[in-house]
Amino acid sequence: MTPAQVLLATRNDKKLLELRRILVSSGVSGVQVLGLDDVSPFPQIPETSATFEGNALAKARDAAAATGLATVADDSGLEVDALNGMPGVLSARWAGRHGDDAANLRLLLDQLADVPDDRRGAAFVCAAALVVPSGTQAVVRGHWRGMLTRTARGSNGFGYDPIFVPDGDWRTSAELDPTEKDAVSHRGRALRALLPALRECLSSQLLPTEGLPPQP
Ligand code: IMP
Repeated sequence: MTPAQVLLATRNDKKLLELRRILVSSGVSGVQVLGLDDVSPFPQIPETSATFEGNALAKARDAAAATGLATVADDSGLEVDALNGMPGVLSARWAGRHGDDAANLRLLLDQLADVPDDRRGAAFVCAAALVVPSGTQAVVRGHWRGMLTRTARGSNGFGYDPIFVPDGDWRTSAELDPTEKDAVSHRGRALRALLPALRECLSSQLLPTEGLPPQP
């Protein structure tokens, strides 16, 4: 039998790696997990929503409509307390160019140069959406609280990881092992919260579901 399929709709390779890893470690193993490189190309829509949920749903809807596949997409970012929640949904293009992690990080550190240590709180946020071409959709949110350092440390992860120290730790998230990050991160939390909807959608494809986590 053909295995059930799910598409992870992101063009960010590091995010794709995390999403795949989180699904596999959550027991989603009897399923073919595809990336955008595995499907015919389609135009990317601009991220215009003011909310993580709106952008995640738009990305998932767009990819599901273009491919006919059950699709998971996420939209994520860093909310900085001292900046009233910015860069938020603008995290990927905070310095003006989409996906320039080094420039985004440098700009944020400059903006926070005069902010004292006790006001450097921040949270990573991730909205994860599942859209099935038949019409089913679900969207959930995960949070990860921490503090921002003054200098970058570590080489794992991506984006703002080198300046984010999660609550209860002293290492930046770029100094955590990938599996340690997944266990507590905003993306890990959001994706695991999406599993019941994903499990239901995959089982309704009437295809093998062995390897999926047991029903609660
Ligand atoms: P998106 O592709 O619009 O969801 O942009 C997400 C942006 O938020 C990334 O480009 C990073 O700047 C930031 N971000 C989201 N999740 C993480 C993470 O896990 N670590 C570090 N930065 C992140």
